[in-house]
Amino acid sequence: MTVRVRFAPSPTGMFHVGGARSALQNWIFAKQQGGVFVLRIEDTDAARNRPEWTEGILSALDWIGIARGSYEGPYFQSSYAGEHRAAAQRLYEGGRAYYCDCTREDVQARTGPQQRGYDGFCRDRGLEPGEGRALRFRTPDEGETVVVDLVRGEPTFENKLIEDFVIARGDGSPVFLLANVVDDMSMGITHVIRAEEHLPNTPKQQLLWDALGVKPPVWAHVPVVVNEKRQKLSKRRDKVALEAYRDEGYLADAMRNYLMLLGWAPSGDREIVPWSVIEEEFRLDEVNPSPAFFDEKKLRAFNGDYIRALPVEDFVEACRPWLTGTETIAPPPWQPDEFDPAAFAAVAPLAQTRIAVLSEIVPNVDFLFLADPLIDEAAWAKAMKEGAADLLDAAIVAFEALESWDAESLKATLEAVGAERGLKLGKAQAPVRVAVTGRTVGLPLFESLEVLGRDRTLTRLRAARVRLV
Ligand code: GLU
Repeated sequence: MTVRVRFAPSPTGMFHVGGARSALQNWIFAKQQGGVFVLRIEDTDAARNRPEWTEGILSALDWIGIARGSYEGPYFQSSYAGEHRAAAQRLYEGGRAYYCDCTREDVQARTGPQQRGYDGFCRDRGLEPGEGRALRFRTPDEGETVVVDLVRGEPTFENKLIEDFVIARGDGSPVFLLANVVDDMSMGITHVIRAEEHLPNTPKQQLLWDALGVKPPVWAHVPVVVNEKRQKLSKRRDKVALEAYRDEGYLADAMRNYLMLLGWAPSGDREIVPWSVIEEEFRLDEVNPSPAFFDEKKLRAFNGDYIRALPVEDFVEACRPWLTGTETIAPPPWQPDEFDPAAFAAVAPLAQTRIAVLSEIVPNVDFLFLADPLIDEAAWAKAMKEGAADLLDAAIVAFEALESWDAESLKATLEAVGAERGLKLGKAQAPVRVAVTGRTVGLPLFESLEVLGRDRTLTRLRAARVRLV
């Protein structure tokens, strides 16, 4: 039997990192089993769906290596409404479901507010279909439903504790539970790998598989993803959109490696490993069922490691979107014609070892491309203390006299200027750095001055000196 898995996101918002994790796990599992990965867009919630969210899902998947054209689909759940209704009808005709006209208030009046779930009032009333009548599944009174779950063993649910749940609403439209099962069935899905949030749905869904006469799939409910307070990552509170990470300058390779570490680790106490190792070693039955902590700090550190491991040409190329701006990335503060690719290439290796996300490239190099540096006033106040004017004067004179404008000579010169004033190099650098780059931290100073060039360096030092008068 060919293994067939599916990733079934709902296009109701930005693409969640937890979804990306499930997608990758499905993807790897299919690959390992020589199986098929199906993408199904569950777009039946017309009020919340938007086509741009679907496009966002496709391009985010593409970004993490699940390329368009390399999987089956996308299928759209809304195209199968007829099948969903037909399945509801079959369940009704087979006596496995019944119509119900109870309102929530009716049920609560009978059961009291404490009791949750439906009390079965209409089970044997034999109501005909009709406007406003929901169709409910008649759950078995006895026995138990055993879910075979590769991550969680065999969670077992007593059938009598499962309420007669709704499978089609009063307007006849099937609900998620049913549509999801019918599609999995008709798409021949053998393994359902999805987030733990859906585990409570699973016994109900498995009962539907049984009632529709098809062997249920093997399940794998992978752990919920939580923040540092152990709260489930939420789009209102946490940064959850994969696109946000992409646009901040996380590398796809770092991101997908990190996502696979949520609840699992490769062998040998390693975390950063080639993707091929993850593809080979990942096992669903090794996934830890406890909530997985999405540690943004660790991801940042991870990303920095990936950035440093790039060949420098690839790093230069990877920075491009932040150097130019794109549809989703803000343009840099300089004009396109102010950008100098040779100057950028000269400082790129210095930047590569210092940034953790690619967007940080901009504040590190903007001094090279702007006519005047963007002065950070707090940095200015910190660096331009007593003695700064005198130091700048001396530095200007000494730099003007330099024969060769290179990092080494610049350094030796400023060192000497500082020493004459009893200042260590670090202290002597501060006013120069702020005058030239506008900031207290950045790329190594003397290499920066070399690339910036004599004229522009001196102009900036003089401008700063004027401001200090
Ligand atoms: N559309 C559901 C969701 O996004 C997926 C359910 C499933 O994977 O079975 O949560």
